Amino acid sequence: MTACSLTFLGTGTSHGIPVIGCTCPVCTSSDERDTRLRSSVLIEDENHALVIDTGPEFRLQALKHKIARLDAVFYTHDHADHINGIDDLRSFSRHGPLRVYASRNVVETIRVRFSYALDADVVAGGRPHLLLTVIKPYETVAVGTMNVTALPILHGGDEIFAYRIGSLGYVTDCSEVPQKSVEYLRGLDTLVVDALRRFPHPSHFSLFEALGLISHVGPKHAYLTHLSHGFAHQELEEELPPSVHVAYDGLVIPIGGENEKEKELYH
Ligand SMILES: [Zn+2]
Ligand SMILES: [Zn+2]
Ligand SMILES: [Zn+2]
Repeated sequence: MTACSLTFLGTGTSHGIPVIGCTCPVCTSSDERDTRLRSSVLIEDENHALVIDTGPEFRLQALKHKIARLDAVFYTHDHADHINGIDDLRSFSRHGPLRVYASRNVVETIRVRFSYALDADVVAGGRPHLLLTVIKPYETVAVGTMNVTALPILHGGDEIFAYRIGSLGYVTDCSEVPQKSVEYLRGLDTLVVDALRRFPHPSHFSLFEALGLISHVGPKHAYLTHLSHGFAHQELEEELPPSVHVAYDGLVIPIGGENEKEKELYH
């Protein structure tokens, strides 16, 4: 895997920040980093691009970051804040089918929820041409030079996917990481993990739990995402350890190539 980059397209929780109707200091903040669209990332090598999740603001995110091509889409799970932008993948499947990877359950849900777009029997123009493809737990798919491995994690009572891509781990909407997946998150340069709020939540890591995973698997750098309006960017950044940062919409970070741990896993 050659060097590539990660762009945070969105770093907000399911409401997005500002929350509709809320007048709290974070929702009314003048710091641009406190405005958070729904969580999604763009990952690119020199010739290929993929996104993880397409929330309701995917169109705006694609326009803002001038995304002109996509080679694959990976879904973590089927909550609205992660899949409802799927219609706007039309633009990326004009010249050929777009490969979309998700767990078996999520593929089935997408087929039902978006049957008007995906069912070949429905007469409609302008439907996205998506090749819905099941990715199995711990299976690795190559997109250009990027090796993407699906890692089962728990989101409350649901098993969903985190992904490892080279020396990057992307773990959102997580309440628990099974031991086998913990092993796949060792030796990372960068771990992105959700930290919803300060106090516990049944289906998301709190700040304390996110920091616990970070210290347990020991990445070189970590970024917090899927943040609620309980966190002001600057204030949270100042209280974190030096290797842990608060992600914000538009932040671009380099992702290292294949490291020793990845070689061990894939060769
Ligand atoms: Zn979510
Ligand atoms: Zn608020
Ligand atoms: Zn969720």
